[in-house]
Amino acid sequence: MNISIEPGAVLNNNQLTSIFLCAPQGGMRRSHRTNTLVLISDKTGLYQDRKEDGIYHYTGMGQVGDQTLTSQNKTLAESRENGIEVHLFEVFKPKEYTYQGRVELADPPYTERQKDNNGDMRNVWIFPLRLVEDDQEWIQEIEQLESIIEKDAALEETEKERIVKTRIGQSKFKQKLLSQSKQCALCGVDDERFLIASHIKPWSESTNEERLDVNNGLLLCPNHDSLFDKGFISFDEEGKLVISDSLNETVKIFMNINSQFRLNNYKNKSHYINWHLQNKLLSLKELHD
Ligand SMILES: [Zn+2]
Repeated sequence: MNISIEPGAVLNNNQLTSIFLCAPQGGMRRSHRTNTLVLISDKTGLYQDRKEDGIYHYTGMGQVGDQTLTSQNKTLAESRENGIEVHLFEVFKPKEYTYQGRVELADPPYTERQKDNNGDMRNVWIFPLRLVEDDQEWIQEIEQLESIIEKDAALEETEKERIVKTRIGQSKFKQKLLSQSKQCALCGVDDERFLIASHIKPWSESTNEERLDVNNGLLLCPNHDSLFDKGFISFDEEGKLVISDSLNETVKIFMNINSQFRLNNYKNKSHYINWHLQNKLLSLKELHD
């Protein structure tokens, strides 16, 4: 099913139902004819949906009592496997449906407490959703990059990474990172011209999926990019800066490394950051070996 609605478009209920061939009411509308699930996030209603760090936290269906993972809650919970396209609309004013885009589960659903329609506290299911980007362009870029690098067998690994880095500088990958934050993740430098989109787990060691994964990316200023890339700094499981013991105090001062630095929004990246800490952080001992 090829649904082409521009994100931001505002539809009325008739338009919505005629495009998706779904029921005209309900917050989760399954259409067997278009194999879609339309989600309505109604900001004027009962549910406490919210958007944080680019993730929509969407409350499942069921207005009274504890919600269960049945019916369309189940459809959505299984949407990574069942092949159903999920589309999200937000309602800020009654009867106006603003299209957000196609979404997918970013993380497994979880429960929280919200009031039900009678005002009683109950358990609801929350579905963390992210927009599905059209990765086709970026996949092509990856393939082109691969073929350039493959052809030139004489290139050193570091040189390959440098080429990749330059190319990524103009890519969708950087745009995606910029859409989350427009500053160095460490020091806050916010001039886009100097921000480098870095893979946490390097390109050469990543699978294609990891290369595309924005969670495997950090925006850093040139200083901090270079230090991170070479393994002079990394982060612990709480996002706190870990500094290689091979750096002396003067270098730390002049390179603007402050042990108080913390990475914000590291949670979705923690699996990559842990990889970096385990595999890239240089210790004095290793340098001398
Ligand atoms: Zn910085």
